[in-house]
Amino acid sequence: MAITERKCSNCKTWNNNGEKHCKSCGAPITADLIIKAGHEERSLQRQLRPNTTFENFVKRVKVSPNPLVRGTYFLVYGVWMAYLGILAFFLWLIAWMPG
Ligand SMILES: [Zn+2]
Repeated sequence: MAITERKCSNCKTWNNNGEKHCKSCGAPITADLIIKAGHEERSLQRQLRPNTTFENFVKRVKVSPNPLVRGTYFLVYGVWMAYLGILAFFLWLIAWMPG
């Protein structure tokens, strides 16, 4: 069996092949563990991320008892959707244009 060493990306310590975690700092040194750790960190960040002010604003507007506020929201939403539709149409047009 070939003996290769893995270098810890965290503290640059060389570890024996077969080790899954750095003997010096405990960081994962195998590719699958590093990827797994990255996934866990990302999902954790998603959970911890607080709602932005804009998201809170939209939430408040949607449940607003004032019909004028709700009406404005749906108007803006409708205009935004129409804008996206027009944009998609032009992209489609450009894609089909010869040359
Ligand atoms: Zn290390």
